Amino acid sequence: MTIDKNSPGTKIGIMGGTFNPIHHGHLVTAQEALDQFKLDRVIFIPTGDPPHKIEDGLAGTEARYLMTVIATLYNRNFYVSRIEIDRVGESYTIDTLKGLRKIYGREAGLYFITGADAILEILTWKKTSEIVTLCKFIAATRPGHDLSQLEDLKKQLFPSSEEASNKISIMEIPALAISSTDIRKRLKNMRSIDYLVPEGVSNYILKHGLYK
Ligand code: ATP
Ligand code: MG
Repeated sequence: MTIDKNSPGTKIGIMGGTFNPIHHGHLVTAQEALDQFKLDRVIFIPTGDPPHKIEDGLAGTEARYLMTVIATLYNRNFYVSRIEIDRVGESYTIDTLKGLRKIYGREAGLYFITGADAILEILTWKKTSEIVTLCKFIAATRPGHDLSQLEDLKKQLFPSSEEASNKISIMEIPALAISSTDIRKRLKNMRSIDYLVPEGVSNYILKHGLYK
């Protein structure tokens, strides 16, 4: 990853995920955040061994990393970081954010992009009050997701509604009910995953017989 440490106003989107596998829902969300929030780049950060996500059929870390690279190859503003993959032991968002702050400096704008489901998970972990000082959040409305829980959480976390909406923005994205869970199910049932993931990702999965 190339890092221009000396441009203080840099706005960086961070898209964390298992990416098991990465799909067009992730890519559309990242691109929409880039556009709507005028970000300079989005960094995709595949998780190492997820500490609180018991996964059946989790593809190997390197496979998930490579699929993320393949999927983002043709976008000049998309990057992939190994920061969580290369970390020894369990990975927590707080450590990743601190690591990115160290790299990009205090002036950079860090925007953590998540689906509205995942933001609830992140903000109900420990150290929430510290996390919200390190970055802003962009919560993508995933189809079918109820936002009332998120609104309640915002009220709990921030005293003023201005601060709450400054820290957590809701981003409407075109309806894309794609999920990795569904893609893995399809592969198990020998169904097509064409057009749900980039062609290169689909080729990689089939070539290596993942998620069978
Ligand atoms: P799984 O079904 O295994 O949970 P997933 O499709 O939710 O996989 P993750 O790797 O868990 O993918 O998600 C990474 C991030 O992308 C999360 O913040 C999640 O909310 C978001 N995300 C996943 N799918 C979509 C989608 N279709 N639209 C918008 N955001 C999404
Ligand atoms: Mg998920």
